[in-house]
Amino acid sequence: MLELGEIPESHPRRASLLARKKLVEASDAGLLADSAMIAHGRGEAFDYLLGEMTSDSASRAIKHASKMLVSAKSPVISVNGNTVVLAGKELIRLAAVVGCPIEVNLYYRTSERVSGLIGVLEDLKSEVLSEEAPEGFNEDWFSSVSSVEILGDEEDGRIEGLEGPRSICSSNGIESSDVILVPLEDGDRCEALVSLGKKVIAIDLNPLSRTARAATVTIVDEVLRASKKLVSDALLIDEDVHDWDNEAALREALEIMGSAMSRV
Ligand code: ATP
Ligand code: MG
Repeated sequence: MLELGEIPESHPRRASLLARKKLVEASDAGLLADSAMIAHGRGEAFDYLLGEMTSDSASRAIKHASKMLVSAKSPVISVNGNTVVLAGKELIRLAAVVGCPIEVNLYYRTSERVSGLIGVLEDLKSEVLSEEAPEGFNEDWFSSVSSVEILGDEEDGRIEGLEGPRSICSSNGIESSDVILVPLEDGDRCEALVSLGKKVIAIDLNPLSRTARAATVTIVDEVLRASKKLVSDALLIDEDVHDWDNEAALREALEIMGSAMSRV
């Protein structure tokens, strides 16, 4: 396996190689379902077509989503294994800025992986505690980060409309949320959350997935890039939330992908 220092800063595939390395290590540690690599590979292919950068269209989605999160009554960030591994730290920073919990919620749920991922998030939270607050954050960073709750093992809530382990959630997290950020979510669950009347923000590189099509706002971007931008946008004092045409945003993403040849 490549060591970090062996990949030159200028290597065009650096970010992609580092992401793969993190996922392989997390998989070896038993933190990911077998299908995690396949899901990642599907995402990578779409990111290649996007030119591995945040499009203007995705930037608008991120801005809109950040406003939804800060103006929500009970926002929550729902994370799976790949999300924790790739963007866990940034999402803790986002939770601290928004003032919301993070819930580990897995499609292929096992109590070992849920507690393993909660452990990873708790460790990342300790690191974030001693880091600088994001620019523009005027409250006490230490206490804001300290109060980010990491949920997931309570199993005291249910997502109505789903059967079996897939319906399990936390009553103080997903169940009682009005706005939910779900990076890399599965289509069935996204549809179920929307039909419960929740506003769902998805981060998904595939504009054609059921998740992307069912979500209230879809950010067609890589989860780490999008999470970083969500943190800075959540701190902007900006105009109100306007109407959002998600289908138009998905079309724009597909158009960008379709014109990839003209950018190489
Ligand atoms: P759906 O269930 O929504 O129809 P799917 O079954 O095609 O989607 P899943 O395997 O359920 O896909 O979920 C993986 C999704 O996450 C894919 O759409 C993939 O493009 C996306 N994805 C994978 N890695 C990333 C990443 N790093 N950033 C953003 N999206 C990603
Ligand atoms: Mg799926």
